[in-house]
Amino acid sequence: MLDQAQRILKDIFGYDSFRGNQSAIIQQVAGGGDALVLMPTGGGKSLCYQVPALLREGLAVVVSPLIALMEDQVAALDELGVAAVGLNSTLGPDEQRDIAERLRRGEIKLLYLAPERLVQPRMLGFLQSLPIALFAIDEAHCVSQWGHDFRPEYMQLGQLAELFPDVPRIALTATADKRTREEIVERLHLQDAQRFLSSFDRPNIFYRIVPKEQPRKQLLAFLAERRGDAGIVYCLSRKRVEEVAAFLTDQGIPALPYHAGLPSELRTYHQRRFLNEEGLVMVATIAFGMGIDKPNVRFVAHLDLPKSLEAYYQETGRAGRDGLPADAWMAYGLQDMLFLKQMLGNSEGDERHKRVERHKLDAMLALCEETRCRRQALLAYFDEILEQPCGHCDICMDGVETWDATDAARLALSAIYRSGQRYGVGHLVDILLGRDNDKVQGLGHQHLSVFGMGKARAESEWRSLFRQLVARGLVDTDLDGYGGLRLTEGCRPLLRGEASLQLRREITSKAPKPTASAA
Ligand code: ADP
Ligand code: ZN
Repeated sequence: MLDQAQRILKDIFGYDSFRGNQSAIIQQVAGGGDALVLMPTGGGKSLCYQVPALLREGLAVVVSPLIALMEDQVAALDELGVAAVGLNSTLGPDEQRDIAERLRRGEIKLLYLAPERLVQPRMLGFLQSLPIALFAIDEAHCVSQWGHDFRPEYMQLGQLAELFPDVPRIALTATADKRTREEIVERLHLQDAQRFLSSFDRPNIFYRIVPKEQPRKQLLAFLAERRGDAGIVYCLSRKRVEEVAAFLTDQGIPALPYHAGLPSELRTYHQRRFLNEEGLVMVATIAFGMGIDKPNVRFVAHLDLPKSLEAYYQETGRAGRDGLPADAWMAYGLQDMLFLKQMLGNSEGDERHKRVERHKLDAMLALCEETRCRRQALLAYFDEILEQPCGHCDICMDGVETWDATDAARLALSAIYRSGQRYGVGHLVDILLGRDNDKVQGLGHQHLSVFGMGKARAESEWRSLFRQLVARGLVDTDLDGYGGLRLTEGCRPLLRGEASLQLRREITSKAPKPTASAA
């Protein structure tokens, strides 16, 4: 069978050898067994069911929630001479009848369709009348209520186990922590499935995360060492994308904007140029990336914080697909954090959903303020243990200095509390530094007991401290949108003197770099 699989890989797909777990997975599924596959994006999940589809008798049914990706795959298979079709709501009744006819005659090897389509009783009945090679359930994490891609229709896919007891099923995903994994197994009835967990580590990517001071200047300095390299710069808003692209062009760096607000022809044109030309920088919102397969993207830079570690991992993962050295660089600041937190607070959706999103954002913030190896922290989030610090991230390289911030944090918390839990960082810093300005005077805050108590520290230190308090969830933003800070339950132990606090010492570009301590 392996010989045959190898031949299909070569003759039809044009590749010389399988990657990672591919051949083991193909053997399992082609042999009639179930499989649960965890593989990072770009790892090569598609072949894991496409090759067994060609090895086995009958029709392979592929469930996918993303119509665009479905169409891409069908088109690609078509080009390779593999009979594949996608069923979607844009097809007219005649086309649908025609496809049904071809399916009945056994002329089609792979059928792609959305889950809600598959679980219609008529569709299931129809498929029961055909020889079925396998079911592939792509993006299987959509079955998890814990994840943010939850799709209720996925829940109904569990019935495939009873309706087609002899048909192998393979569930695939690129995002699944342990909890999501167990949910997939339970909901899709994959208790007997063999599990294939690939490492999510991308050893050729160097991670660096820096506090935002002067983002454009910092970006330029980063790009200066990467002249002529292709890369992606992610920004949160369309406006910022336009501004940064114009700024880079002005600075002599060839850059193109990409966001959902641009006319689709222009988007396609920019995308094509980025793929085909060398050394272009794409400045983009997250609208750019799905299905981008350019192997020699040398860097991914973030000027704004992603909403979750999953998003950060996906976006940075677009760098270095060719296995050569690549960089993931990010500048983050307090305003980003507050902005994302406010968006979350104001978003639609039930409490459960918000709680999940908040948890994900907190994990992202924690990575920014990490004091251990970034790669260890990132992989730990995906339940993968890296035994040793990686030696290939900013913290491993430069080290991190921590300091006992217990007293300073108490003072900062006290400033928030005594001023009424409604002011932003600027005003709080003014109070701590004893700045007797108009706003302070107007509010009478020069009479607060904490006024001027923080003079021993620089403004930048206080700002860094507030940011880390937010990142650690000791302080939260109010939800009315003015960026005022308030205390959370989490800061109680510290205020009561029951806990101490170690924080990162900022390495600002102004201050001399401290000597590295153990990371
Ligand atoms: P995923 O779905 O896991 O994100 P894909 O299945 O889209 O990944 O594969 C990513 C890329 O890697 C595709 O361009 C695919 O053709 C390529 N690829 C997959 N397996 C192999 C292989 N064994 N050898 C060479 N290229 C491969
Ligand atoms: Zn490291």
